[in-house]
Amino acid sequence: MAVRSKAFILLHAAWHALRLVPRAWRHGYQDAKVIWEQDGELSYYRLSAVWQRVVVRGALVLTGVGVVSLVISGWHSWQVVQEREALAEAHVQIQQALAQALPEVPVTTTEGVNTQLVLDLTARIQERDWLIQTLIQSTSTQLAADNATMDAQLRRLGIDQRMREAIVAGTPRGGAVGPHDAWLRDKLPPALLQSMVRNGELRQVLRALPMHYPLRQARVTSDFGMREHPITRRVQMHAGTDWVSDAPDDRVFAVRAGVVSAVGKHPQYGLMVTVTHDSGVVSRYAHLRRISVARGDRVGVQTPLGLLGSTGMSTGKHLHLEIFIAGKPVDPERVLRMAQHVQQVKID
Ligand SMILES: [Zn+2]
Repeated sequence: MAVRSKAFILLHAAWHALRLVPRAWRHGYQDAKVIWEQDGELSYYRLSAVWQRVVVRGALVLTGVGVVSLVISGWHSWQVVQEREALAEAHVQIQQALAQALPEVPVTTTEGVNTQLVLDLTARIQERDWLIQTLIQSTSTQLAADNATMDAQLRRLGIDQRMREAIVAGTPRGGAVGPHDAWLRDKLPPALLQSMVRNGELRQVLRALPMHYPLRQARVTSDFGMREHPITRRVQMHAGTDWVSDAPDDRVFAVRAGVVSAVGKHPQYGLMVTVTHDSGVVSRYAHLRRISVARGDRVGVQTPLGLLGSTGMSTGKHLHLEIFIAGKPVDPERVLRMAQHVQQVKID
């Protein structure tokens, strides 16, 4: 005979016991007499069939109820134990998750906490933290690269920190750089915030640069920098760029919108117009034949300032253009070219 497991034997016994139930229930009981013998004396008791049936069936019902109650209470106890274990496990998880998510907050107790809710919240906090971290990292990398590029561009133009600050200070809305939301500003890592502010300032500087050529078809004939002066023959600084027109059009235009801050005649520069731009950048147009604006006029890049000429110390018809940032001259041709490249705006 095969070896049976304890469970099989139990089930087998239960099955046989269960099979007895209908037989006992339907048994045809007869009236019976019970003889009771004590100290030689005999007593006769009569047990009616009805009573026998009632007792047997009552016992069966009570046993059935008892068995069912046992099963139910056992099942319930098992469930309570399971829930308690799950709760304990959840508490440990919550504590670990909270300790990771909020390292500065000591988690001392989780009594009375809605376990599932806290678990969900914790998961969401962790996910959000991860997203923020990723965003901050990629933003920092992008900003650093962007800042380095713009910094190199400005350095190539000879625009130093003092000039950058002057442009930022002189530009309308100047100072409002970085995130405008104070709440967000307080929460960003200081290094990232610094990068953002710097990025905003560098962009502001690049955007503030003049980008329109002063003639409809301009060609450079003399560069910015040290050169031998064509009249005095002395080597000296040429603080601007000389342009001639490759078209019959002699009109001279502002390199950026602004306000005419000076017009006049100068022994060297001849007839000259000075335009102050909204960023504090200043441009000067010299050797003009005629001036068509007055001091205080608002000019756009389509407004002719005057006509090409050769007034003042000049060897021929040309425009001497100067651009100043914080009072210091910069190379106009380079600035215009860089600004066009950076601002990506179509020239007219
Ligand atoms: Zn010149």
